[in-house]
Amino acid sequence: MPTPIQFSTQTLSELKQLQQAALASDYAFRQTAYLANNIGPRLSGSAQEKRAVEYVAAELRALGLEVRLEKVMVPHWVRGEETAALVAFPGQAPGTTQKTVLTALGGSVATPPEGLTADVVVVKDFEELQSLGTEKVKGRIVLFNHAYDKAMAAQGRAGDAYGQAVAYRSGAPSAAAKLGAVAALIRSVGSADYRLPHTGQTKYADDVPKIPAGAVAAEDADLIAHLAPQGPVRMRLLLTPQELPEVESFNVVGDLKGSGSPEQAVIVSGHLDSWDLGTGAIDDASGVAVSMQVANLVQQLKLRPRRTIRVIAWANEENGLRGAKGYAEAHIAEFANHFAAIEMDGGAGHPVGINISGKPELKELLKPIATVLQTSGAGALDFVDGAGADIGPLEKAGVPGFSPMSDSRTYFHYHHTAADTLDKIVPRELAENAAVLAVLAYGLANIEQPLPR
Ligand SMILES: [Zn+2]
Repeated sequence: MPTPIQFSTQTLSELKQLQQAALASDYAFRQTAYLANNIGPRLSGSAQEKRAVEYVAAELRALGLEVRLEKVMVPHWVRGEETAALVAFPGQAPGTTQKTVLTALGGSVATPPEGLTADVVVVKDFEELQSLGTEKVKGRIVLFNHAYDKAMAAQGRAGDAYGQAVAYRSGAPSAAAKLGAVAALIRSVGSADYRLPHTGQTKYADDVPKIPAGAVAAEDADLIAHLAPQGPVRMRLLLTPQELPEVESFNVVGDLKGSGSPEQAVIVSGHLDSWDLGTGAIDDASGVAVSMQVANLVQQLKLRPRRTIRVIAWANEENGLRGAKGYAEAHIAEFANHFAAIEMDGGAGHPVGINISGKPELKELLKPIATVLQTSGAGALDFVDGAGADIGPLEKAGVPGFSPMSDSRTYFHYHHTAADTLDKIVPRELAENAAVLAVLAYGLANIEQPLPR
């Protein structure tokens, strides 16, 4: 038996055209710039998020896609004031305080309106907290000084380093509250040393009191950890976020109908919402813009995908995943026809290849795609446990998942901070990501065989 071919000669030549067109185009950069600079931060429930839904829908319609807005209810948490200072500490000059740079974690409850003042107890991990017991924690502010592993990130495993540290962002408040703490702070989950606090969603357990939760800049965590062994360190903390009633939002879903098997869909996606401190350029305007670019290039080159290419701008990835959950509920009956799902949500750094979430045989099937992408330095293929948060429900149902394997060594310098802004996007690298997604999405839409699942 001859080896079955995955791609026709025509498809292979179209993949090369798409790659070259993507590398030569500034469309993705212009769309990223519009979302980040003209619209701005897009936290769920905000006016900017609403505007972004309308904008992306209109742009996809202008490209000739069949666009639907699929409704989901999203949380509407708003950040208020966030200030903190050390008001008593060893060696303190009379009448002085030391400012603590921090930000509220998403979903955090507020302190009393006048703030709260309590001694800080520093722990490096959950185990150390447990060893202290209620007696040493009750009535205090707990600071989890668990450092993001920069060495691991420098080796190219930034996502793993993030995963390790983010356990504290999620679990710190309830672990501390269980022992009677009045507030929980974490060392920011991130890698830069510019005294930037990194926000992100926290989680409260149902069976313990909700206490205010924040992330301090790494430098402030170091300072407090330096003082604490010398004697009592007392902090005044003011956080005034509010959880408003949920509001309506939408997944923006745009179909470029397939010419042969239109009922089969290849999803290419990013998330439309962002945190509120910066303008969400890298997280994740870039992912949405590159997904839009895939449709733009296919249309511009007048290519005809056999399967439907479905562009999705997901709602509410950051603080609820309601877009992903809502899509799964609405479309579960059609999951058998979801051929593959791609998400770009790991920054817009230089891509070196494709992450695959699925069966081992996928690697062999994708080799011709990797060969095309190798000419722009993106020919690697490797497996990951999950290729994107929003496509998680699809992957769980067996749909093969993919994402660009990008250089993320600096991503967590800016992730969820005020410095997630347009200047962090390198136009050439963004175009390289567009080349990866265009070649991958169109290749999957035209591959001759079904994918194993
Ligand atoms: Zn993201």
